[in-house]
Amino acid sequence: MATVKQANPRILTINGGSSSIKMALFEAGDSLRRTLEGGIERIGQPEAKFVAKGSNQADNFTRSVTAANHSEAVGILMDWIEERFRRGELTAVGHRVVHGGPKYSEPQRITTEMVEELHQLQPFDPDHLPEEILLTEAFHHRFPDLVQVACFDTAFHHELPRVAQLLPIPRVYEAKGVRRYGFHGLSYAYLVEELSRLAGPQAARGRLILAHLGNGASLAAVYEGKSVDTSMGLTPTGGVPMSTRSGDLDPGLVWYLARTEKITAKKFNEMVNFQSGLLGVSETSSDMRDLLDRETRDVRAAEAVAVFCYQVKKWIGAFAAALSGLDTLVFAGGIGENSPKVRARICDGLGFLGIELDEKRNASNEGLISTVASRVPVRVMHTDEEWMIAKMVCGVLGLGAPKESSSMKTR
Ligand code: ADP
Repeated sequence: MATVKQANPRILTINGGSSSIKMALFEAGDSLRRTLEGGIERIGQPEAKFVAKGSNQADNFTRSVTAANHSEAVGILMDWIEERFRRGELTAVGHRVVHGGPKYSEPQRITTEMVEELHQLQPFDPDHLPEEILLTEAFHHRFPDLVQVACFDTAFHHELPRVAQLLPIPRVYEAKGVRRYGFHGLSYAYLVEELSRLAGPQAARGRLILAHLGNGASLAAVYEGKSVDTSMGLTPTGGVPMSTRSGDLDPGLVWYLARTEKITAKKFNEMVNFQSGLLGVSETSSDMRDLLDRETRDVRAAEAVAVFCYQVKKWIGAFAAALSGLDTLVFAGGIGENSPKVRARICDGLGFLGIELDEKRNASNEGLISTVASRVPVRVMHTDEEWMIAKMVCGVLGLGAPKESSSMKTR
């Protein structure tokens, strides 16, 4: 990297998942402008790809890459960064870190001490944290002067009321950090801000149920901008059924399968994280679009969709009770944003809570999909975790906090 001095701070956001690394580049001025997005997809598969879309021609490409594992993918990303940016051109890198454990709730600079502590936290999320740590270490190794900031997905729920936080198991485990943490916090923080922009601060301070329904899916009950309860727990496996995760189960199942099937704890963990949810019930696909396409001719696909919608509806009822009422319902995530059928089935029968969908608006994925008469406005929003990370990085670096962005995509 050659040295360069620049006017507008540039922030690269990194979101490392188990089979992908997503990135986005933002320029911070009066607003946060996204100038590039992309990442490495299908890590570990022969058809791994490095894709970028940006405002410069050089930033638009799709390359087949050899990334047999995460380390190789990280190496490819580091090489590209070294080539693409001159020294000093990047102000900071913001990482999504899935689990902050009991200690980390605020976005903050990544230090050697923090990385050591994150290593200790790995048992909380062995499926995401190791990859995320690898990424921060790789950046540190290759670009030692570059500021790195960690933004925790658990942070939004850090102050859950005790009744929502405490798991009803022997108290001794709580002292060891075993409790409900909740996830999708960057998405929820964004949705609350965006709701304030769209419907006003008063609406955003009301009793909200936010349903982030993607491959990973969860709901949050929010009041006065704060998380009051959320469906995921100690790990992202809990709550509603997801693409391949089971969501909540009867804890007695562990011992039952251990006795009847000789299933080990490791196998059980694999089953509930990678072979359950939509995939487990349908036996064919973890993808909601596929299942909706097939539901009329495959009862297993129909049942997978039905179980998903039923469980989400149940959690909405539970959270309306936790909030003593409901003022706004928000759908987000790939399924929440794009599937009128799923939204309609979830909301069917929720008239008693004041929820009434407008069929036409729902069918065309409008921003507001409830009827004029509906007591509870029901909204569809495009969430933007990357934008939230960039905003948090600006806060940590004292760059001022942009309120909204031209790149916000909410309909
Ligand atoms: P992730 O949690 O990996 O970010 P996404 O938020 O992209 O996932 O959501 C992926 C899910 O959204 C998949 O189940 C996909 O089938 C579903 N999805 C996307 N578009 C549609 C659509 N038009 N109808 C139904 N489901 C959709």
